[in-house]
Amino acid sequence: MELDHEVIVIGGGAAGLSAAVALARSRRSVLVIDAGQPRNAPAEGVHNFLSRDGIAPRDLTAAGRAEVRHYGGAVRDGRATTAERIDGGFAVNLSDGSRVTARRLVVTTGVVDELPDIDGLREFWGRWVLHCPYCHGWEVRDQPIAVIATSPASVHQALLFSQLTDEITLVEHSFVPDAEARSLLAGAGVTVLEASVQRVEAEGSSINGLRLENGSLLPVRAVVVSPRSVAHGSLLTSLGIETVPHPSGFGDYVEVDPLGQSAVPGVYLAGNVTDLSAQVMGAAAAGTRAGAAVNIDLVTTDAREKVVG
Ligand SMILES: Cc1cc2nc3c(=O)[nH]c(=O)nc-3n(C[C@H](O)[C@H](O)[C@H](O)COP(=O)(O)OP(=O)(O)OC[C@H]3O[C@@H](n4cnc5c(N)ncnc54)[C@H](O)[C@@H]3O)c2cc1C
Repeated sequence: MELDHEVIVIGGGAAGLSAAVALARSRRSVLVIDAGQPRNAPAEGVHNFLSRDGIAPRDLTAAGRAEVRHYGGAVRDGRATTAERIDGGFAVNLSDGSRVTARRLVVTTGVVDELPDIDGLREFWGRWVLHCPYCHGWEVRDQPIAVIATSPASVHQALLFSQLTDEITLVEHSFVPDAEARSLLAGAGVTVLEASVQRVEAEGSSINGLRLENGSLLPVRAVVVSPRSVAHGSLLTSLGIETVPHPSGFGDYVEVDPLGQSAVPGVYLAGNVTDLSAQVMGAAAAGTRAGAAVNIDLVTTDAREKVVG
């Protein structure tokens, strides 16, 4: 059976585009299907990406798409809904009703960040509502910052953000740190406030505080939350790929071997879908590795078939 491509990469963020470049440069026929919503899209710029500091997330993916095309790969806007095994490979079904086929799949669909259910958080997510000190801590340095505590990860975040500002408050919204954590927070200069948060108060495009359930305003310029980052969707389910809770409690992910091969032969994964803490560079590196793994898989499969006849 003639297939449309050798490899289909589902998800065109840093991981998927890097996998596709590695494959296209190995003269593989590769198609990237991308829904165009990288996880960091709400942020103004990408940081901790050596040589591209501050680049807008969509400019980074646009540059990656151009590199894939430069080497003969194809990129298509769209959403893969399901995929199934067929003779010699896989068929991928898209939400527009079309269907494409390939010998191998690379799934780089990332994660969805579930935020605490508090008014205003989603609106300012990635701009003034943050989770990662390394990504955007510098941009809010020396500002008053509140950490909305919802899990042990909030203590970790408060400690890290204390490196960036002296005015930091951990609000015990739905998580109360134990004695050991409290002594660490005190040592790091973090104020702990027993209160629960009602909503984020904004002034134009900026935050000016957290309105607390007791009616008072905690004046802050940035808010730190701990999302649950979840890999899920009909695509993974249709392929028989299971997500499992990450031991850190940060969310759900898919376990793969060091090269990105999943429990389903022929399906590789890379980026946040398999590594919740991967930043852009880490996701890109994992994508390159998965692309290379697919290439050697195809090289050896074809060589073996020729020898066997
Ligand atoms: C607010 C925020 C700011 C961040 N800032 C930084 C930073 O400054 N520096 C840094 O290094 N990291 C940062 N990160 C982390 C960064 O976003 C991730 O490391 C990176 O996006 C992971 O890349 P990925 O390719 O695995 O997934 P993504 O970049 O999320 O890409 C996945 C792609 O797959 C697509 N997709 C999903 N499902 C389907 C489907 N079924 N069919 C087709 N396409 C699909 C999505 O639309 C998306 O385009 C930030 C994260 C957040 C949440």
